[in-house]
Amino acid sequence: MATPAIGVLALQGDVREHVAALTAAGADARPVRRPGELDAVDGLVIPGGESTTISKLVDIFEMREPIDKRIADGMPVYGSCAGMIMLATEVLDGRADQRGFAGIDMTVRRNAFGRQVDSFEAPVEITGVPGDPFYAVFIRAPWVERVGPAVEVIGTVSGGPAVEVIGTVSGGPAAERIVAVRQGNLLATSFHPELTGDLRLHAYFVELARTA
Ligand code: GLN
Repeated sequence: MATPAIGVLALQGDVREHVAALTAAGADARPVRRPGELDAVDGLVIPGGESTTISKLVDIFEMREPIDKRIADGMPVYGSCAGMIMLATEVLDGRADQRGFAGIDMTVRRNAFGRQVDSFEAPVEITGVPGDPFYAVFIRAPWVERVGPAVEVIGTVSGGPAVEVIGTVSGGPAAERIVAVRQGNLLATSFHPELTGDLRLHAYFVELARTA
């Protein structure tokens, strides 16, 4: 397909920014909040926002089963921040009643960096995205504490402005934290590329949806 249709799950969070970034990266991008709208897209972005709220709204809008089914069928999905939490098989520091799609075999800790600071920026190199490191923006972001064998770690933070934060939390300035992963057609980042005007990660996902 020349131009993949990519939906942005439009229940809560920074939907508009993802639609704009995906459009600029060459996709036919649109908000999706109904099962019929999901049927018409080749890929889905789950935006940043609040995973507990998104989890509730997924049930209210009767989107849980349709999304679970599309993920099982191999639809490409990219989750950013709260979207990363929604894709994890296990969530630490979550609310007892929050439920995600369990697509990526990983344990994420919610608000992990945010225990020390609410937001920060750091350079992150992403495997498969050539060029300069990403200028990554983290906002009450999760990190990944465990990945299963099927998961490829494609980005970590370990230096620059994040050192202080990470050192405080883990007890050592050299500590690395996993902030970007891929498992098959599922992609997740702790940070928000839709806020910086750097389209490379959206272009990477558009290409994934085009070729999946
Ligand atoms: N802390 C939020 C959550 O738990 C995620 C923050 C974000 O998406 N910027 O869902």
